[in-house]
Amino acid sequence: MYSLPYFKKILNLNWRKSKIMWIYEKNNNLVFQIRWKYNNTDCINCWLKTSKRKDKKLHKQKTLVKHMPFWWDKVIELELHKRHFKCENCKTDFYEKFDFMSNFGQYTNDFEKYIQWNWSFVSWNKLAELYQASNGLIHSILDRIDENLINEKGIEIMEKLDEIYLWVDEHSFSGHDMVLIITELKTGQLLAVLDWITKTKLDYWIWHVVPLKCHKKIIWYSTDMNKGYANSLGEICWNPIQSVDKMHLFIEANRVVDQVRDISRYTLQMNFIKVEDMAKLGKKCNEKITVEDLKKLNNSQNNTKIEAMKKYKEKADQRLNIAQINKNDFYNSKGEKIDYCEITPEYFIEKWYRKLFFYREKNLSWQQRLRLNQIFKEFDYLWFLQESWTLKEDFMDALDELNMTEIDRIRDDCLKSEHYRIKQFWRTIKRWYAWIKGFCEHSTDEFKFTNALTEGINNLCKVAKRVSHWFSSKVMYIKKLTARFCLKKLEI
Ligand SMILES: [Zn+2]
Repeated sequence: MYSLPYFKKILNLNWRKSKIMWIYEKNNNLVFQIRWKYNNTDCINCWLKTSKRKDKKLHKQKTLVKHMPFWWDKVIELELHKRHFKCENCKTDFYEKFDFMSNFGQYTNDFEKYIQWNWSFVSWNKLAELYQASNGLIHSILDRIDENLINEKGIEIMEKLDEIYLWVDEHSFSGHDMVLIITELKTGQLLAVLDWITKTKLDYWIWHVVPLKCHKKIIWYSTDMNKGYANSLGEICWNPIQSVDKMHLFIEANRVVDQVRDISRYTLQMNFIKVEDMAKLGKKCNEKITVEDLKKLNNSQNNTKIEAMKKYKEKADQRLNIAQINKNDFYNSKGEKIDYCEITPEYFIEKWYRKLFFYREKNLSWQQRLRLNQIFKEFDYLWFLQESWTLKEDFMDALDELNMTEIDRIRDDCLKSEHYRIKQFWRTIKRWYAWIKGFCEHSTDEFKFTNALTEGINNLCKVAKRVSHWFSSKVMYIKKLTARFCLKKLEI
């Protein structure tokens, strides 16, 4: 069974002056009766010991105070004893208070800490329910979170590091109400949350919050393409390295393939082909186009087009490498043999096969390789699918290998493309070129500049935002982030 030392430990009170008298249950809550250890006390005025009491009716001095959560829906309460003294020396009249009691209400300091800490993963209403307290009480406790803790912790982090890699990111609080989140890239720690996304705010943070000795440590920064922030940060960096986030480029490349695939799907679904090709087939516009028609059209393209597309076709074949696959040799996860079925055009229209194009080539299973191969061979009008897919894979490989010449090659190939969406990708690469270059030149095999970690923090912020839907103001939101990131340790 539990012993007294154990109780003393979990209650975490100042046991120098107090002791546990009794434990009982009241309204399903556990109540610890706490009493003073000594009869005398120090006078608050003259600091001499006094034992002269003014109170007579001891049983009326009991107060129940909330202390900590217990079990799922119960609270441990303390039954305290408030003593009324009159100093023998200076005749001061005073009520004595335990030092673990909060100055603000009928609860202990630990209770306040528990609520503030729990707020990071529980919503406001839920807190009131769990701790059997009113919303107003919870609000007054949460309002006492010091949002400067984020800054203080950020400065502490920066002082410890030798090199600082900053990432500045906008983050919406609600609609167009934004906050600016500054993170350290290598360690993935939150440095600051600014309550508005203006350049002045960032300037203030840089010049008035960040210690000057930390300025020279900032050797690299990245923003999501906002010139204003870049300029502010540029003022304090000697030789700033700008770089782009690889993930965003991957997403962009995938988006190109996705849209090309969508348009290719329309050729079968809605007869979405060139007018002269339709005439070549001798069909009316509302007549369905079949797979055979597509094949006929692809073969009847002029020579320059076929020649230009040859390299993409060959590369796609080479990447998928389906010659190695034995079609009669598929097993599911239970080890049973399964038959591979070809995709019919109707099924292709219905299923879209969207994910198939998002996977990296190296992650594809053999079955997926076969499917992709069939889509390329049968449903690929003018080979745009193969072109975009090959370019995407090449682009991702080039980023992985940090190969700048390859990226130049892909950029030029995109410009030559006949597909408008692939041409747009040329523009994307061109616009981000300096940043991609920064990424390739300053990444090493061990460390790649990526904001995956900071995106993670961003995500945590978003989760924190969603978990509690009772924000009266942005100030409260920043307080919540403080609770999430800075109040992690409750030392007991
Ligand atoms: Zn006194």
